[in-house]
Amino acid sequence: MHQRLNRFLEAVASLSRQPNPELALAGITAPALGAARPKTAHLSAHPGVQERPTSVTSQAEAGTVAGLSSYPPVEKWDEWEEYDPKAWPERVKRRYMLIPTTCFNCESACGLLGYVDIDSLEIQKFEGNPLHPGSRGRNCAKGPATHNQVYDPERVLYPLKRAGKRGEGKWVRVTWDQVLEDLGERLRKAFQEGRHNEVIYHVGRPGHDGLMEWILFAWGVDSHNSHTNVCSSGARAGYAFWMGLDRPSPDHANARVILLISSHLETGHYFNPHAQRIMEAKMAGARLIVLDTRLSNTASLADYWLSPWPGSEAAILLAIANHLIRTGRYDREFVRTWVNWEQYLKAEWPAEPCTFETFEEKLKELYGENTFEFAAAESGVEAGVIRQVAEEVARCEGKLASHTWRSTTAGNLGGWQVARALWFLNVLTGSIGVEGGTSANAWDKWVPRPHKMPPHPNRWNELTWPDEYPLTFYELSILLPHFLKEGRGKVDTYFTRVYNPVWTNPDGMSWVEVLTDEEKMGLHVCLTPTWSETAWFADYVLPMGHAAERHDITSQETHGGRWIAFRQPVRRVALEKMGQDVNYTYEANPGEVWEETEFWIELSWRIDPDGSMGIRQYFESPYRPGEKITAVEYFRWMFENTVPGLPEAAAKRSLTPLEYMRKYGAFEIRAGVEAPYLQAVEAELLEDAIVDPESRIVYSHAPAPVSPNITPHPAFPGDGRGRPVGVQVGDQVLRGFDTPSRRLEFYSPTLREWGWPEHAIPGYIHSHVHPEVIDQQANEFVLIPTFRLPTLIHTRSGNSKWLYEISHKNPLWVHPRDAARLDVRTNDLVRVSTEIGYYVIKAWVTEGIRPGVVACSHHMGRWRLQDTAMERWSSALVDLTPQGEGRWQMRQVQGVLPFESSDPDSKRIWWSDVGVHQNLTFPVHPDPVSGMHCWHQKVKLEKARPEDRYGDIYVDTDKAHEVYRDWLAMTRPASRVSPDGTRRPYWLLRPFRPTRAAYQLPSGKFAE
Ligand code: SF4
Repeated sequence: MHQRLNRFLEAVASLSRQPNPELALAGITAPALGAARPKTAHLSAHPGVQERPTSVTSQAEAGTVAGLSSYPPVEKWDEWEEYDPKAWPERVKRRYMLIPTTCFNCESACGLLGYVDIDSLEIQKFEGNPLHPGSRGRNCAKGPATHNQVYDPERVLYPLKRAGKRGEGKWVRVTWDQVLEDLGERLRKAFQEGRHNEVIYHVGRPGHDGLMEWILFAWGVDSHNSHTNVCSSGARAGYAFWMGLDRPSPDHANARVILLISSHLETGHYFNPHAQRIMEAKMAGARLIVLDTRLSNTASLADYWLSPWPGSEAAILLAIANHLIRTGRYDREFVRTWVNWEQYLKAEWPAEPCTFETFEEKLKELYGENTFEFAAAESGVEAGVIRQVAEEVARCEGKLASHTWRSTTAGNLGGWQVARALWFLNVLTGSIGVEGGTSANAWDKWVPRPHKMPPHPNRWNELTWPDEYPLTFYELSILLPHFLKEGRGKVDTYFTRVYNPVWTNPDGMSWVEVLTDEEKMGLHVCLTPTWSETAWFADYVLPMGHAAERHDITSQETHGGRWIAFRQPVRRVALEKMGQDVNYTYEANPGEVWEETEFWIELSWRIDPDGSMGIRQYFESPYRPGEKITAVEYFRWMFENTVPGLPEAAAKRSLTPLEYMRKYGAFEIRAGVEAPYLQAVEAELLEDAIVDPESRIVYSHAPAPVSPNITPHPAFPGDGRGRPVGVQVGDQVLRGFDTPSRRLEFYSPTLREWGWPEHAIPGYIHSHVHPEVIDQQANEFVLIPTFRLPTLIHTRSGNSKWLYEISHKNPLWVHPRDAARLDVRTNDLVRVSTEIGYYVIKAWVTEGIRPGVVACSHHMGRWRLQDTAMERWSSALVDLTPQGEGRWQMRQVQGVLPFESSDPDSKRIWWSDVGVHQNLTFPVHPDPVSGMHCWHQKVKLEKARPEDRYGDIYVDTDKAHEVYRDWLAMTRPASRVSPDGTRRPYWLLRPFRPTRAAYQLPSGKFAE
């Protein structure tokens, strides 16, 4: 022992004397230990101002990537040498190819470099790709943990087919060819019989842009179903009603004030790319304001942390708006030019003079009651603190970067109005599309289009877009089990793709009930990189690749700029660089792990092998007429034809566009903020245009420009005058915003006309967990079940040993005052009762949560039904027992135990607790406007009863159905409120938009 310790100390001493061998190989000298860090090169001395970055690729080639002091130079990526750490203290060199790819472990799509050993073809590790404009070489823990996912001994390596009853856990290995033949025939039959709506594709983490529009449109189906209404429907709706686009894109790095309603420094949306820029802004003097009921890591670094009662955030934001309005500290010219105030006055105050001054008076009246004191009474945050925050916002000088995602917009009834109230502050301060402000997502994102795009399908699927929710963002995916139970339809073929609704969604037992009912769910095909609770109830489990095992194009609005990145199967690329042909990616991946792009192309070809159904034509190669396109050709064509600037940049380096993307993994289309709403309308659109003399909206009959990008939305209702293409401002015709008025819609005619006139302007809606419905004396609390942990993904962290070693419990956060009242201490068991059941969990007594509120992370509580090789790093073995009609009891048989596998670390597992699956006990709460599942729960807390054990779960799905009916009763269906006989406003964003004709309500359904 002493000998080993001495060797270790000697080695540490020698390390401090020697140059870092890795850096020495790269020709870079390591700074002496303790030396001052060099000043970050790209920050200027002026607070809040950042020098505009130049092309990241050219920086990399010059060896000056912003902020990074060490990375292997690009010219050595094809052959890079490092000493083998396992051979230490011997110095054994190993040779690697560094292949860029992008992380698949959250939506940020940060750049990674896969180190592929040239001799063994094994992947040694993943590090950041310094050339990626979004992440700039940095990653969170989940990026490098991709290595665990690739080498997880528990992963699914071959296609499996169910052998016993569904959910019985019996599987046989099949070939990809058998899978494709079976599915191709089944889908062909469904389409030939006109049963298109019985095919549903349900995706959790898409990880790509544009691919599934190509596939599903070619099939002619309206079958896309997303995870969005357990994630972001609330925020999306709030933004879309304002500007037609449904996400914000803050330029954090250059902001003076950053206002976050989410935990962006550790887990919020695009958090690694955002976090590094938020910190740059903070270092340059920006003020950081965080609204979060829970003390998140982000809140701990804020200048102002406000811990409001959940759901009261809009009251605070409107008090700030009122302060700006009353004190006249808003951007008058911006509001006068770009807000649809005339439309508001004419509709609501027709007798009053239609002047901006009248509107300003109305603003004072409308928000006069939104005082600091009112906000304080609603939120529990001191009025003086809200006033200070309002002053900070007032001083932002048009540089307010704001963001809300998930968090309160995903927690509360009416959460979408929080996003609307937050964007109101950007509007008032003029912080839109400017440096340091906030843009619309599509301005900073680019989605290339494939060589042959099929037309929009002429179908409407009411299982995903039901009559009751004409304004939802997006599909009502959480209601599928209830719709099937009600007999609204059935599903012939159900694809789940990187999605685990049994575990991720609320009301998981209702999912189990329909997934095991073969009358309702004909065939369940689970495309997944890992075992999951949902895969267990599948007919096919089809292994799909992780970040290093697949091709995808990604582009995200991570900052003021625009980029695309290329996810690559790193071993395939390495093999090809060595001159070896690879036909399909599964030939290079572990086992027969495949990738979706190739899978969907092959399946589409099998559905229509002779082209008679009109599907095959979209999958013929643009380079080899009549032959099947390859995945590589699919990407090659897009890089050559639909990415602005890429062919030129590639040519400069004597590369083809595909070679460029293979080599660098990312391309920066634009650096810096751009505001398309200020761009002049194209001359060809103005040839036959007319200008409405009152509104100055410009209408045109000219066809919509064929844009490879998603930004323009050509689909507007029009009224014989054509479609609105711009707005006249002075003597110019500018594009304006993607709304019918081409302005920012403070007043939403859409909300008014479609049944929600009381919410047509930004407002405050009492949440379903407002204090007035919580009886604190009866030990009722609000449960916040939504927060992420920085180190976990959703289902996919289950096969990452590093991540699970760091985080594997989800105790219930309880304030000390409440804990004392309940006589509960840390680690005591408590029973948390919801509307449909209860769960038993350990308490964590902490001042990080406000009194009256409890919180529990949504990441934990993975489970499996058999003690077989699946997710044993992260799941408890459970007994799931039906207790009679609709009632289910789950009890943990054992937690995690060490196990034998090809990975010696599996015998070293030291943790056993993997948390409790709280989501099973939540009924669905779809917001009647946005469709967002309102996650927060009114719960009752008590000390565990004698019969309770840790991890116990009890659920009554009949009660869950009753709660669903209660929330459904709040809706205002299209068939009742539609002003024009359509199912949904045509202008409003809808993913996978069908034809205009499909929007028409069936005759007889529309109440005139
Ligand atoms: S933030 Fe982390 S998990 Fe998300 S893409 Fe970046 S490295 Fe991957």
